[in-house]
Amino acid sequence: MKLTCYGAAEEVTGSKHVLEVNGKRILFDFGLFQGRRNESDAKNRRLPFEPHSIDAMVLSHAHIDHSGLVPLLGREGFRARIYATPATRDLCAIMLLDSANIQMKDAAWLAKKGKSFIGPLYEPLDVHRILRRFICVPYEERIEIIDDVFVTFHDAGHVLGSAITYLEATEGGEKKTFVFSGDIGRKNMPLLIDPWMPSGADAVLMESTYGNRDHKPIESMEEDLAKIVTATYHRGGKIIIPSFSLERSQEVVYVIKRLEEANLIPRIPVYVDSPLTANVTEIFRLHTDCFDDETSALMERAGDPFKTSHIEYIRETEKSVRLNSKHEPCIIIASGGMCEFGRIQHHIKNNCEDPRNTILIVGFQAQHTLGRRIVERRPRIRIFGVEYALNAEVQIMNSFSGHAGRSDLIDFGKCFKDSARRAVLVHGETDALQALQSALTKEGLKDVLIAKAGKAIEL
Ligand SMILES: [Zn+2]
Repeated sequence: MKLTCYGAAEEVTGSKHVLEVNGKRILFDFGLFQGRRNESDAKNRRLPFEPHSIDAMVLSHAHIDHSGLVPLLGREGFRARIYATPATRDLCAIMLLDSANIQMKDAAWLAKKGKSFIGPLYEPLDVHRILRRFICVPYEERIEIIDDVFVTFHDAGHVLGSAITYLEATEGGEKKTFVFSGDIGRKNMPLLIDPWMPSGADAVLMESTYGNRDHKPIESMEEDLAKIVTATYHRGGKIIIPSFSLERSQEVVYVIKRLEEANLIPRIPVYVDSPLTANVTEIFRLHTDCFDDETSALMERAGDPFKTSHIEYIRETEKSVRLNSKHEPCIIIASGGMCEFGRIQHHIKNNCEDPRNTILIVGFQAQHTLGRRIVERRPRIRIFGVEYALNAEVQIMNSFSGHAGRSDLIDFGKCFKDSARRAVLVHGETDALQALQSALTKEGLKDVLIAKAGKAIEL
């Protein structure tokens, strides 16, 4: 077996890896590079191999940095089958269409401004067409994807439908096994089943996002959120939560429902202001088989996990604008995870100057984003070219992270201590990769490598 990583090699976006077995080529993920516009656009347009050379594809989960370029593959001649869990396929139908629509809007805006731009990477029609290539494979079901190559998906506990892939192949009469971690989730996260722990393989390709640090324990999540909601309510303020549409928003609503049920917070209106989040939540409702026992028990007792006592999912712009005129305490969860685009910017602009309000940050905020400036509690922030005083309270909850922390990554890696000839690390910044490499080597793993983009590794 031979492995080549074409993306997420010494970086955290653009996952794409090709495994060669018996002269056949299997593609794992084909994600979008994200970052500064011009740089990432050039990288996204440059396909690293001929799409028709791929014999089968395995897609680990629906996050855009893992799935976001799949429609472009189809447009450029890819004709193989894409194997994914049913939830991943359904989420892709929504997430990829949203990505195509954003690109169309961007292209139109740039054209209007007279800026040179080659056009969107793909269009909605490309999304509809590529969806025909998907084959849905449930967790724990062993399936032959090409002659003598079998894969089994196991729950990765990262987002709905996310999978760790176990691959078995016969090469030169010898049986070989390979694990692709995708993104690994965390134990005890709301909604999802805990990540699968493998019992070894001949080789492993694993993520390293938090290879150098651990998160705050999940156990404090409900208590922290209850304190923040109650304190803001007693001040007569609103809680504004910037959130990503996939997973984080559903988790926040679910935790609010649990707190309400336990009478740990007052029952106040919750507004989920994002058409994409509303659509993604519908997909969650279709895949209750992906939920953990705690969520199933809550559904038995209290019904829909995404329906609090007063909740409204807002699609229409007019209804979103109408939220500005509401003055009673409420929770607004809005799209735009890093506050750089989306409806969240309007809510921050309208609420940041009132000290009764709270801006609650539940996700990572990259450098040079409005979200990061809020985390840094700058006294003044600029939105749509206008400066506002940041008088609202700023609270940060890291416990919602969907990625395994350092200790969990080491536990995952240790599963391969006695079996793997080679471990390959991807999906991390340099510090995280190096820290995980040295930790796993110390744990006794034989050959721990950091993948270099485009450089083949013999497994
Ligand atoms: Zn992910």
